[in-house]
Amino acid sequence: RGLVVVVDGPSGSGKSTLCRRAAAALGAGYLDTGAYYRAVCWAALEDGLDLSAGAAAEAGGRDHGLDEAVAGLARGLDLRVGTDPERPFVVVRGTDVTAAIRESRISSAVSVVATNLEVRAELIARQRAAIAAQASARGVVAEGRDLTTVVAPEAAVRVLVVVDEQRRLARRALELHGTSDAAAVERTRDEVVRRDRDDSSVAAFTEAADGVSVLDNSGSLEEGVEALLALATA
Ligand code: C5P
Repeated sequence: RGLVVVVDGPSGSGKSTLCRRAAAALGAGYLDTGAYYRAVCWAALEDGLDLSAGAAAEAGGRDHGLDEAVAGLARGLDLRVGTDPERPFVVVRGTDVTAAIRESRISSAVSVVATNLEVRAELIARQRAAIAAQASARGVVAEGRDLTTVVAPEAAVRVLVVVDEQRRLARRALELHGTSDAAAVERTRDEVVRRDRDDSSVAAFTEAADGVSVLDNSGSLEEGVEALLALATA
């Protein structure tokens, strides 16, 4: 059985790059669990479901009709998530959505999907199967929000990535706007603060659970990768 390394952290913590690099160094597979939620969101929008109605309803209670529709969609979704750390891909209904699921229209609507408990049950089952398949082969480094606590609390190595707040905003600004100048960072702040708040209802990803190692990724990429590999091979 290969090594199972699971990594949680907030958006902009740099965990994706860390995990891909560590997986490549270990000769292990890589699994991005956020991609599953983004893929369901993409498909829901493609089907014309109005997720903004769900966001509005979230404040005063859920929109049950919408929740049922999204859960049904998730259960039947033809979804493939690649596990090669050098070339991650996401294919939904035969369409390559690797780039499309990173668009801001997805990032801003994905919380409605991720806070739907029936969707979570379905995607967690799929993620566990994918982790088990990799584990029985070459091992895996998987990343998300609830892996250390819910999806794979029995994993050999469990890590929570934290990062200096200013670094985190700058990283997201670069991803979203192609620059991390002051104006871009300000524009990014709202999006990041809002998604953290929405995500916090599904996973306490800013506090390490028992037995979970904290990795501070505020330094260079090289330092972060070294630290993750040190935890993985300890
Ligand atoms: O990591 P990424 O930003 O791509 O995740 C997209 C969204 O998917 C998160 O904002 C969160 O709502 C959801 N997610 C989750 N549980 C995970 C991974 C992601 O709820 N394990």
